[in-house]
Parts: sequence; structure tokens; C-alpha cells
Amino acid sequence: MSTSLLGAADIRQLADRLGVRPTKQLGQNFVVDANTVRRIARLAQIGEGDLVTEIGPGLGSLTLALLETGAAVVAVEIDPKLAAELPATIAARAPEAVDRFSVVLSDALLVQTAQLEVDGRTPTAVVANLPYNVAVPVLLTLLERVPTLRSGLVMVQAEVADRLAARPGDKTYGVPSVKAAWYADVTWGGAVSRQVFWPVPNVESGLVQFTARPHPQTSATREEVFACVDAAFAQRRKTLRAALAGWAGSADAAEAALRKAGIDPRTRGEKLTVEQFAELAAAR
Ligand code: SAM
Repeated sequence: MSTSLLGAADIRQLADRLGVRPTKQLGQNFVVDANTVRRIARLAQIGEGDLVTEIGPGLGSLTLALLETGAAVVAVEIDPKLAAELPATIAARAPEAVDRFSVVLSDALLVQTAQLEVDGRTPTAVVANLPYNVAVPVLLTLLERVPTLRSGLVMVQAEVADRLAARPGDKTYGVPSVKAAWYADVTWGGAVSRQVFWPVPNVESGLVQFTARPHPQTSATREEVFACVDAAFAQRRKTLRAALAGWAGSADAAEAALRKAGIDPRTRGEKLTVEQFAELAAAR
């Protein structure tokens, strides 16, 4: 295919021409390295037949690499200047992919599932270099709203990648780890140097891979399970008996629910799997 990826000089030129000054507020750090975007597209294991949701396409670096695989892409961008320019960038650099690409001007937190569909086809994968300040909420919103997603590959701040991929008992295991595990098997996909971005961010980045799986079986709703998770980690140094007193109504009620779910009341939230949180929420 004749896709011509964007290099550092292209990104700077494009930004200059559009009068784009990258803002921290929108997490605008653009990838200026073709190897990095190809690596992301390869790890995402996407190709012809996939409909990819890309969040925050920016100037199109990653978008072009995604289209190069043969996949179709619906990109969601909040910045009107960037969203308006994307079709021209795709037409110039990947003319054969124009029919497989569309852009939605929206905040990813507010986007409707129907806006991510094309001719009745639903998204199969999410791939994104996420805006760092809203990475976790954006990710969880998508996982919730788009149940047809089979997989995901996102780049986030390394520390956030660690948290998302953490296992029970790990130091970084917490609310994002459990909530992401509700939807998918989550694994660390590797580090990315900050030198591949313009402007160069203050933090390192990491890749996280998602493989969707059925929710844990429970009679509790997703909201009930997540409320239990939030309560358990709000006071993560306390035993679950104490941390969940407010959630259950009293420490005794928390202990009763914990025992019913087969969990030692003296344990801490950081030790529980998502399946155990699901059982606990149902036991209240
Ligand atoms: N994908 C591009 C790349 O890799 O070079 C840009 C990634 S940059 C880290 C994040 C992008 O997300 C920016 O283009 C920014 O304007 C956009 N963005 C920020 N907040 C957003 C939101 N809430 N919804 C959709 N896009 C957002």
C-alpha cells in the first residue's frame, strides 16, 4: 500500500500551517516516529475487516499506520482544527484508504456508540495514543459503551499503564486495574520513549493491551460492583471490614457481606480479584 507516514518534519510543518500550538490541557503530544506508530498498529493485531475506533487522532500519525493495515478507522477528535484537517491528510498520504476513514468531532467522553459505527458495522478494536489527563475515563467509557470491542491497544502515561495492567497484590493495583479487568484481560505492552513525541512530554509512556472477555458472573450490576471497588480503595490502608463500613452501612454489615462472599474481613482491597469484588457486591 502507498501509505506515507508522518515524520518529525511533516508534523512540525503541518502544525505550523494550521497554526496548531499543542496544548497540555488536551494532552497534545504528537508521535513523530513512524516506527512507533507501526509498532502500535502491529501490536493491535488489526487488519482488513476490522473497524477501529481511534481516540484523539491529532495530526494523523497513528491514523495512517492503522489505515496501512487495511482496517477501517473512525477517529474521534475534540479539537476542531485537527478534526477538519484529517480528511485532507489521509487523502494526500493514503488515497486508497479514504473510503475506510471518517472523523467525528466530539469529546470522546460524550461520543455516542452509533457515531462509531459504519453502515451498521460495529467497532471491533480501540487503538489510541490517549490524551493523558483523561486516559482512564475515556478508556472505561469506551469499554462500557461498545460491547462489540474484541481488543484494544492504547498508549498512556507509563504509570497509568502500570496501574491498568496490575494484578491483585501488586503495589500499583487499584481502581483502574479492577475496573479494566471487569471488561478485559489487560497486559503491559512495552515502554515508549518520550523522545518519539513532539512536544516531548515530562513523563514516559507505556502500551497496554486489552482482550475483551465476558464480565464476571454476578447478580450485582456493574454500577454496584464499581461502587464496592471505589469504597474499598478509598481507604486502601484499612482492612476491608473497616474500609467498607460506609458502603455496607456498618462494619458489622461489611463483615457479614465479606464472609458471605468467602473473603477474610481482615484482608485489604488490593488483594481482591474483580471476580471477588463481583461476589462481594452481590453479597451486600
Ligand atoms: N494520535 C495522535 C498522535 O499519536 O500523534 C495524537 C495523540 S495526543 C496524545 C492526544 C489527542 O487527543 C490530541 O489530538 C487531542 O486534541 C485529543 N483529545 C484530547 N482530549 C480529547 C477528548 N476528550 N476527546 C477526544 N479527543 C481528545
